[in-house]
Amino acid sequence: MPDAGLVLRSTRVITPEGTRAASVAVTDGTITAVLPHGAPVPGTARLADLGDDVLLPGLVDTHVHVNDPGRSEWEGFRSATRAAAAGGITTLLDMPLNSLPPTTTTAHLRTKRRAAAGRTHVDVGFWGGALPGNTGDLRPLHEAGVFGFKAFLSPSGVDEFPHLGPDRLARTLEEVAAFGGLLVVHAEDPDRLAAAPQRGGPRYADFLASRPRDAEDTAVALLLAQAERLDARVHLLHLSSGDALPLIARARADGVRVTVETCPHYLTLAAEEVPDGATEFKCCPPIREAANQDPLWRALADGVIDCVVSDHSPSTADLKTADFATAWGGVSGLQLGLPAVWTGARARGHGLEDVVRWMSARPAELVGLDDRKGAIAPGRDADFAVLAPDDTFTVDPAGLQHRNRVTAYAGRTLYGVVKSTWLRGRCIMADGEFTAPRGRLLTRLP
Ligand SMILES: [Zn+2]
Repeated sequence: MPDAGLVLRSTRVITPEGTRAASVAVTDGTITAVLPHGAPVPGTARLADLGDDVLLPGLVDTHVHVNDPGRSEWEGFRSATRAAAAGGITTLLDMPLNSLPPTTTTAHLRTKRRAAAGRTHVDVGFWGGALPGNTGDLRPLHEAGVFGFKAFLSPSGVDEFPHLGPDRLARTLEEVAAFGGLLVVHAEDPDRLAAAPQRGGPRYADFLASRPRDAEDTAVALLLAQAERLDARVHLLHLSSGDALPLIARARADGVRVTVETCPHYLTLAAEEVPDGATEFKCCPPIREAANQDPLWRALADGVIDCVVSDHSPSTADLKTADFATAWGGVSGLQLGLPAVWTGARARGHGLEDVVRWMSARPAELVGLDDRKGAIAPGRDADFAVLAPDDTFTVDPAGLQHRNRVTAYAGRTLYGVVKSTWLRGRCIMADGEFTAPRGRLLTRLP
């Protein structure tokens, strides 16, 4: 065994080559070797023997709204990253809204980084935002290290982050493609949304009807066509409509550079079970019918959908009124993504290797962090989650680290208890206890 400060040993280590009994050697925060389970441990090294608990690479959640500064009563760097650590996530990327300011200029990026510095339990990177009026800010933001740019094709829900019409979208794609960047897109068509019945009130069926699948499908088609025409690289955020998948698969086969994510709530929660007034289930695009889950899971298995990320978008409880038309739209699930997805995955015959691919390896690749994150392999950061996959727990909002403990998962019994989380070779969370914040702020730059 090479010189190691730490060895983590488990009968089930998830590596890119599969699951096996192994000893993982770590020096100075980096994985140096993946060795046989019984490999001798150097006298100077500390051994963490995890028994039969599964050692997986720390998850990479590329879609989190931390809302800090400016709406830090909704969430915040401290609480979000504690929740992440509690959920086995070791890297998260912060969305450019709903903080004030939004991350749409390099000055705003500096403000965000100042708000985060020294307060993050896990590593944090930043997306920039593409607005109708900030095309000239995109290249400087790219050079300052944001991982890509988020744009909306329909109103975002906050006034300071307006959406792009088709012409602005094309102009933005041209600019981002010119410097080899990535545009990540909330794809719902504003005209289709406006044409849908807007009844409001407490009934989930009315809310679902107000955000129909064809609004998503139409916007996805527009984005794919423009990405193809301009040879731009795009990523579809939080895909909900299973009907859009054939279109995406065709575009990929034709060489369009598109990747896709979906979220735990689209895979595991269903419209039919949302009680009246339960706006903790409200998000956009919406959680759809149970039958819509099957194509999403199939697309994950086929690789048409690349990633599963949280789209954690909390607010204070008072904004979650009982009226689906006016309540804040966002599901709060950062801490629960891994057990929620694992519970759904195992019921459908998927293995933990699949979950690791969707929630760690692929998101790391999406944002170019796969030289450092997303796998238990030599040279990568020693970021781990230790999971008891057959243990269950019942979600009690009081046990969540989120700033606001409003959750659509309350009362559900889930498989998969995260027993500890490790960042660059240090245990940052064990059995619900946290160390002081040790996360770093990441940039796209090497
Ligand atoms: Zn989002």
